[in-house]
Amino acid sequence: MPVNVYFAAGAADWRDYEPHLATALAEAGVNATVLRDVSYPAAVDYIVTAPNGEVTDFSPFTRCKLVQNLWAGVERITGNATLTQPLARMVDPGMTESMVEWVVGHTLRHHLGMDAHILGQDGIWRNGITPPIARERPVAVLGLGELGRAAGAALAALNFPVIGWSRSPKAIAGIECHSGEDGLRAVLSRAEVVILLMPFTPETENLLNAARLALLPQGAVILNPGRGPLIDDAALLVALDAGRLGHATLDVFRNEPLPPAHPFWSHPKITVTPHIAASTRPVTAARVVAENIRRGEAGAPFLHLVDRTRGY
Ligand code: NAP
Repeated sequence: MPVNVYFAAGAADWRDYEPHLATALAEAGVNATVLRDVSYPAAVDYIVTAPNGEVTDFSPFTRCKLVQNLWAGVERITGNATLTQPLARMVDPGMTESMVEWVVGHTLRHHLGMDAHILGQDGIWRNGITPPIARERPVAVLGLGELGRAAGAALAALNFPVIGWSRSPKAIAGIECHSGEDGLRAVLSRAEVVILLMPFTPETENLLNAARLALLPQGAVILNPGRGPLIDDAALLVALDAGRLGHATLDVFRNEPLPPAHPFWSHPKITVTPHIAASTRPVTAARVVAENIRRGEAGAPFLHLVDRTRGY
């Protein structure tokens, strides 16, 4: 008997995923029927969803063994009280590669002072500048999960001293790991570049508030590809305008799309990228979906389950 997989992530995602999901399920040896419309919710074995997905009430899906989110961030789904089935978030190798490239690229932009040369060609020969090399510029990664570890490893490979911070204590080769409030203070006080790769939960909201921004060295740069609410927006603007922070490159925002009149767009010390740091890549993500369904059918533990008490 084939298992019934309801692809409920929406029409646009379906166009992207349809061929890859069929291939990935076949490669995983899963006999599945992928449904786009469901007349009998009680016959569905797996749901594939995304923020703004087609299912808002999960309670009729009484046989469903797993709800697989196509996004890494799950803050828009964890609060759904009808979702009592196990919930998996997306950990996608393609997404991880993309995030590593975004983080390394934007770190190097600031590290090398590229803007001065790309934007400032005025015929004047200013060669009295010797920027520090990477080993002289400590970089902090807040959040040492799938993405933070990968980004930290890539930066460490370029010789940046990488200082990390996470909820639980960790030992990761190449990354000086910290946890707890004292750990955060220690990390921020040294970080010339701060990279936020944490989920949005009640505990992480406004993590970078005025007091913590004040701990950063003069001229520090913030990169936020995590979630918008991790930063107190007003405190960020104050710190940039006061000249204490050098720049903020932001990929994620409290309200997306970022409204055209939002001050971030025109701020000279803010770069906006429109939540493109790391999209889920259908080719690789379809394999993750298929593997989780294979596991469900084999009685093996699911990958990347969300702990709803923690919120990520
Ligand atoms: P993950 O594997 O769940 O890692 C999350 C990390 O944050 C973990 O190290 C966790 O600590 C830490 N953390 C969570 N709450 C904390 C707290 N209260 N205090 C200190 N540390 C805390 O997540 P991921 O896959 O790396 O993804 C990280 C985030 O990136 C996602 O949640 C999403 O918001 C964002 N994201 C953005 C894009 C984009 O395109 N911009 C794409 C994908 C993901 P422990 O290790 O101790 O649990």
